[in-house]
Amino acid sequence: MIHRLQRIVQEVNRAPDIDHALVMITESLIRDLNADACTIYLASEDDPDVLVLKTCEGLNPEIIGKVELKLGQGLIGTIAERAEAMNLADASTHKNFILVQESGEVAFPILLGVPIIAHRDVLGVIAVQRAENLFNEDEEAYLTTLATQIATSIERAESKGRFSTEQATHVIKGVAGAPGMAIGEAMVLNRGVNLESVPDKKTSDIEGELGSFREAVRKVCEELTVQAEQMRASLPEEECALFIAYAQMLSGGSLIDDTEKNIAAGNWAPSSWRDTVEQHAYVFTQMEDRYLAERANDIRDLGLRVLRKLMLEQNLYIDFPEQTILVGDEVTATDLADVPLDCLSGIISAHGSSSSHVAILAHALGIPAVMGVPNLPVKQLDGVKLIVDGYNGSAFVNPDKSVLDEYNQYLQEEAAIEQDLLGLKDQPAITIDNHQVTLLVNSGLMSDHTPSLLSGAEGVGLYRTEIPFQIRDRFPSEEEQYLIYKDVLDTFRGMPVVLRTLDVGGDKPLSYFPIIEANPFLGWRGVRITLDHPEIFVTQVRAMIRANLGVNNMEILLPMISGKAELVESLVLINRVRDEIEEEFGESILLPKIGAMIEVPSAVYQIEDICSLVDFVSIGTNDLTQYLLAVDRNNENVADLYSSLHPAVLKAMCQIVEGAARSNTPVSVCGELAGDPLGVMALLGMGIDHLSMSVGSLLRAKKVIMSFNHAELIDLLKQALTMSDASTIREMYGQLDRRGLGGLIRAGK
Ligand code: PEP
Ligand code: MG
Repeated sequence: MIHRLQRIVQEVNRAPDIDHALVMITESLIRDLNADACTIYLASEDDPDVLVLKTCEGLNPEIIGKVELKLGQGLIGTIAERAEAMNLADASTHKNFILVQESGEVAFPILLGVPIIAHRDVLGVIAVQRAENLFNEDEEAYLTTLATQIATSIERAESKGRFSTEQATHVIKGVAGAPGMAIGEAMVLNRGVNLESVPDKKTSDIEGELGSFREAVRKVCEELTVQAEQMRASLPEEECALFIAYAQMLSGGSLIDDTEKNIAAGNWAPSSWRDTVEQHAYVFTQMEDRYLAERANDIRDLGLRVLRKLMLEQNLYIDFPEQTILVGDEVTATDLADVPLDCLSGIISAHGSSSSHVAILAHALGIPAVMGVPNLPVKQLDGVKLIVDGYNGSAFVNPDKSVLDEYNQYLQEEAAIEQDLLGLKDQPAITIDNHQVTLLVNSGLMSDHTPSLLSGAEGVGLYRTEIPFQIRDRFPSEEEQYLIYKDVLDTFRGMPVVLRTLDVGGDKPLSYFPIIEANPFLGWRGVRITLDHPEIFVTQVRAMIRANLGVNNMEILLPMISGKAELVESLVLINRVRDEIEEEFGESILLPKIGAMIEVPSAVYQIEDICSLVDFVSIGTNDLTQYLLAVDRNNENVADLYSSLHPAVLKAMCQIVEGAARSNTPVSVCGELAGDPLGVMALLGMGIDHLSMSVGSLLRAKKVIMSFNHAELIDLLKQALTMSDASTIREMYGQLDRRGLGGLIRAGK
């Protein structure tokens, strides 16, 4: 059963459009369930409470598109309204039965119908009918499973069908990733890794596109012929024949001709090739003969080889628009490094959320980002005009004049606020009743620290050292690391700089150190890796301690500490490195201050033990939230549940503050909450007065601090702690916007 289901789902995903997909489903169901008739109704585009018959097999095809049923009307409408399956021996005896005239269904009284549901919305109903033999439990389970599996494919296909880059203003809804707004042109990321992600693009240079296509095909043919020769020594002749067959397919015939026709019609080579390959593969998947059906995979395999060559050629000439909005299925931290920063204006990623690392980096760079957009029609967006609103997680495709005017107005207001905030740069971050707060920046991506200094930061509260590791293709040497750390320590001479040891794993991979795990966030991450690889840890700590010689402003922070043992082991290694360097340099070296990140729930409950071993603790609210609430910080499906203002997270933080106070251990916060205006209010209320944040948030945070009495914030926190959910807490703090904070506090979670 599972194989049959997988096959249908794959075919549906590859169908050129929703109509083909529905026909394929009905045909497969008639065959697999031995049914006499099959119908699929989908919710109408104009009115989601009306179901329209989209396809049928075994009934009169003339009724397609003509039958419409309201929710609750007839059996189909009842299934949709109740969001529940129905399995009936005689449909006509059910009280809600309505005969669909001229359908021919009277001949098939036995009916099994199930709703198609995605993201809590009923998208439609699939029903099968028979003249005799009740549908048994297995058949019911089969249809229910199929409906759940194809629901997202239908949702995607529908949104693709509805979306047109030619139509005026189309709104895309995701989650707020990084604050800010931008107007620019979409650039779709495409590394040639799969055919599906090739974006549509028009071209006027038909000769140029034909030239690169032919060149790519020629190169692949050449490689295949060489590979066939090499394989001959170790493979039977029939296996080698596959390479020859591939080469022959590329030597002429419809694969080539159809692609060239697509190009001649004004499409660029990669999407012309993608469409031809998909159409040819689709024809094969429709074949009954299993052997021939399998040939679809060969065509796709060949398609990918040519695509990769083609993309190599195309990527040589990437021309980034002046205001580039980077768009992709999964935009990653390293993708950002591929775009010249002065061109990068915004980001839209189909996957991820505000606490994904790419969103945090975008925030650090001051680039608005919209994350987690379900069914983002990525392929159709390349070159399209977009507005990104990183405050409320929306984007506008092809915005019309009125929307553009509105956003240009917002951008001007933003610029005025920024200008106004600049006046606070040299003022102390102090509440009305004289409570002093230290504001620090999070850093790691930029080698240029000027913006941080200009913002009036009092040091670096979190330097994410993994970022220089991520943008290389091998581990950086001790000397390379030394130079990187020295640069930041020198720039912030006289101010504290907290260097965090390598925190890779989770969603921060190193291309040259692959980790394959089912649950990466619960797996080999942060200090767990560096303790298992002391050579990496020791090299890094050596570089750090050497860089600190003569400046003495460095502190070391250990990520992902989940218990005392990891701390003890790390401290032993750090002490050993200090002793070694002392010996090498012949001078006594003070051990830098050492802190632990509190971001794993077990560390909250062991806060006193941890504080007994370190000089300070820093709360990582991004991870603490994900681990306390069991909500993957990267998963857009649960992004609504992720909130660092959740009462459970606030209570955990209060516990950290109380535990640390017993040993007078300083507590700071370096997660994103520290830069959220409402988060600032809550954290001050807890008595935390060291906040480290993205540079773009710093002056806004200062403005918030300067607008309140500390005593009032303490009271507000007490009230927040009596509330039972994050949205009420956010609402309570959000209402304080009336203090003339202007647009500082915008939508967020
Ligand atoms: C955190 O988890 O809050 C944190 C600051 O670390 P990172 O976001 O790098 O995991
Ligand atoms: Mg973390």
